[in-house]
Amino acid sequence: MDFELDDEQRDIRDTVRRFVARELAPLEPEFLRRESFGEPGLPQDELRALQAKAREFGFWGLSTPEEYGGMDLPAVTRSLVQTELATTCVPFRFGGGADNILFEASPEQRDEYLVPTIEGDRLGCFALTEPGAGSDASAISTAARRDGDDWLIRGQKTFITNGNDADYAIVFAVTESGGRGITAFLVDRAAGWTSTPIATMGSWHEPATLFFDDVRVPGTAVLGEVGKGFELAMRWVGKGRFGIAAQCVGIAERCLRMAVDYAGVRETFGRKLGTNQAIQWMIADSETELEAGRWLALRAAWDVDRGADGRHSAATAKLFCTAMAGRVVDRALQIHGGMGYTKDLPLEWWYRAVRVMRIFEGTDEVQRMIVSRDLLRGYTRIGGHLA
Ligand SMILES: Cc1cc2nc3c(=O)[nH]c(=O)nc-3n(C[C@H](O)[C@H](O)[C@H](O)COP(=O)(O)OP(=O)(O)OC[C@H]3O[C@@H](n4cnc5c(N)ncnc54)[C@H](O)[C@@H]3O)c2cc1C
Repeated sequence: MDFELDDEQRDIRDTVRRFVARELAPLEPEFLRRESFGEPGLPQDELRALQAKAREFGFWGLSTPEEYGGMDLPAVTRSLVQTELATTCVPFRFGGGADNILFEASPEQRDEYLVPTIEGDRLGCFALTEPGAGSDASAISTAARRDGDDWLIRGQKTFITNGNDADYAIVFAVTESGGRGITAFLVDRAAGWTSTPIATMGSWHEPATLFFDDVRVPGTAVLGEVGKGFELAMRWVGKGRFGIAAQCVGIAERCLRMAVDYAGVRETFGRKLGTNQAIQWMIADSETELEAGRWLALRAAWDVDRGADGRHSAATAKLFCTAMAGRVVDRALQIHGGMGYTKDLPLEWWYRAVRVMRIFEGTDEVQRMIVSRDLLRGYTRIGGHLA
C-alpha cells in the first residue's frame, strides 16, 4: 500500500502552499481587524485581483471541465488544494467554479447562467432548506404551479448561503404535474424574489432567507427535468462533503502548528509550556485525530476518482473531520490561554466558524443515518473497500 502523493499532486499542493504563504497569509491581520470591527471578509476587488493572479498561473476552475477553461482536477488533488487553502482564515477560493448541477443546464441556460457564473460575472445560490424542512429536505413546501407556459413559485427558503448577494437562485419547489415531484428552477432576483440576511455566530457563510410571492418564471427556467429536482439537490449536497472534510484537515493542521509553536516558546513556572504533560497530551491527541481525519478525507476523494459510490466514505469523513477540527481548534485555543481568546489570532474565529460544518450539507445526525443505514441494509460491508 502506497500513501505517497504522485509528482503532479505534490507540485500542485506545493504551489498552492506557496500561494497561501505569499498572497493570503499576509492578509490575515487585515482580515481579523475587519472582523473585529464588524466588516467581515475582504473587499471583493481585492479577492478578484487575487483570483486573476492565480489564474495567470493556471489555477482557475479546479473542478470545471476543460471545455470551459477549467483544470478539471481529480478529486484527490482538489482535496489537497482545499486542505492547503483552509490553513489560512482568509476566505479565498480560486475562481472559475460553478455548482455541479448547473452543468445540467440547457444550452440557453448555459449561456445565461453557467458561463457567467464560471467567469465570476454572476452569483448564484442553492435554495433548498425551508423554515419547515432542513434535514428532511423532501418535506419542502415551496410550490410551483403552472400558469399557461409559465410557473408561479410561492414559498420561503432559509439559511441560504450567498442568498442576500446572489442575482439568481437555484430553487427547489414541489410541482404537481405527474405526481408530487420536486423540480429545480433557475430564478433571477429580477423576477421578484426578495431576501433578508440572517445573523449567525460565524461570518463565513452569510446565509439569508428568501421570499417567493408568486414569482413568475417561464417554462424554460426548469433546470434538468420536471420532477427530477430532488436527485439534483442530493447530487449538490453530496459533492460538498469530502471537500468540507478536506477543509477541516487544513484548519486543524494550522491550529496544531500554532499550538506546537506556542508551546515551544511560551514559558510558565520557569519552563516551556510544551514540557508539561498536560500540554503534550493535547498535542498528541490532536496530531492523532488530525492524521485519522486526513486519511478519511483523502479516502472519500479517492472513491470519487475511482468511480465508486462515495456516499458512505464522504459521510464518515464529514462526520469525523468536522468534529475533529472543533476539538483541535479548542485545544489550540486552550494552549494559547488568554491570547487564544483574542481577536489578534485566528483561533477564536475558527472556533466559531467550524461549528457550522457539523450542521450544513447534512448534520452530524444525518451523516450517522447514512452510515448506519448503509451497514444495517447491507449496502456497504465493513472494510469492504479493501476486499
Ligand atoms: C450557515 C449556514 C449555511 C447554509 N447554507 C445553505 C444553503 O446554501 N442552501 C440550503 O438549502 N441550506 C443551507 N443551510 C441549511 C442547512 O443545510 C440546514 O440547517 C441543515 O440541513 C439542518 O436543517 P435544520 O436547520 O432545519 O435542522 P432540523 O432538520 O430541524 O434538525 C434539528 C436538529 O435535529 C437533528 N435531527 C433531525 N432529524 C433527526 C432524526 N431523525 N434523528 C436524529 N436527529 C435528528 C438534526 O441533525 C439537527 O441537529 C445552511 C445552514 C447554515 C447554518
